Amino acid sequence: MTGDRARALHSAALVWDAHACLPLLPRQSMAALERHRAAGANHVSINVGMDFNPVSQVMRVIAGFREWIADHGDRFVLAGSVAEVRQAQRDGKLSIAFDLEGSDMLEGDLDMLRLYRDLGVRQIHLAYNRDNAAAGGCHGDDVGLSPFGRRIVDRVNDLGLIMDCSHSGHRTSLEIMERSRRPVVFSHSNARALKDHPRNIRDDQIDACARTGGVIALSGIGIFLGANDIRVETLMRHVDYVAGRVGPQHVGLGLDYVFERGSADLPPGLVVGDWWPAGHEYDLDGMAIMPPESLPAITEALVERGFGDDEILGILGGNYLRVAAASWR
Ligand SMILES: [Zn+2]
Repeated sequence: MTGDRARALHSAALVWDAHACLPLLPRQSMAALERHRAAGANHVSINVGMDFNPVSQVMRVIAGFREWIADHGDRFVLAGSVAEVRQAQRDGKLSIAFDLEGSDMLEGDLDMLRLYRDLGVRQIHLAYNRDNAAAGGCHGDDVGLSPFGRRIVDRVNDLGLIMDCSHSGHRTSLEIMERSRRPVVFSHSNARALKDHPRNIRDDQIDACARTGGVIALSGIGIFLGANDIRVETLMRHVDYVAGRVGPQHVGLGLDYVFERGSADLPPGLVVGDWWPAGHEYDLDGMAIMPPESLPAITEALVERGFGDDEILGILGGNYLRVAAASWR
């Protein structure tokens, strides 16, 4: 019975994966996203740049992704609105939007935000692990928002991008959530109470996110879940923790699956330890990550945990859709 109910829920749900990574290379194929579609995902947000990627690289990546999606319109679509996400679901297509991890690619110019939005970006965080001119990163000195960072939050709200605090520092994230006029998300972060890692978030961050009406989308990266542990039951401990604290209406999924490791897309001369500091279990090639094929098992586990149908539909994507509806325009 559990299996039947889980299968029915999984196919009825609008399944939203809040973050995934393809190689950041020009003319990069996105064919691997067929794995998301086959696993029942309806929408996925794809990274197009982090703080260390130069603007020229970010633009070439966006250009290639847009071209690939346009060439594969029978199964994939670039979606910029909730209506387009819903239409894609009805058409049996996987809808895709882009996200930015950081704000250095604005090069200090707020006008870049509208350009990125017009190119398909629908979600952004202000800092990637390190402190920058706008905000504090989770491996930085816990600085707050700079005046420029505060202006970015305001413009992100005005333009209707989803404001994302993953990879941000503790103080910065609290200041963003205090300032934002729209719901704020953590697109791929886990509970620090269960796994003490700087990339994970403390209880006050979880509480503040819920107060904005936002979503904590749990990541599938093993070192953030536990001891490089990608069992579904381990993810469920994080689901239970966040749902128990602020309610299942604030839980989502951002598996952060990295489709190709070691694809040589890091900028020349980049010092890996500057961005993923030693002593925090980072092993870019060896870290275990829950693949998109885990999605049906996640639905099954949510049923087994006793969540109600509406709660499960929310965790799988309805909650994130609510944030998009309140943000995108
Ligand atoms: Zn990330």
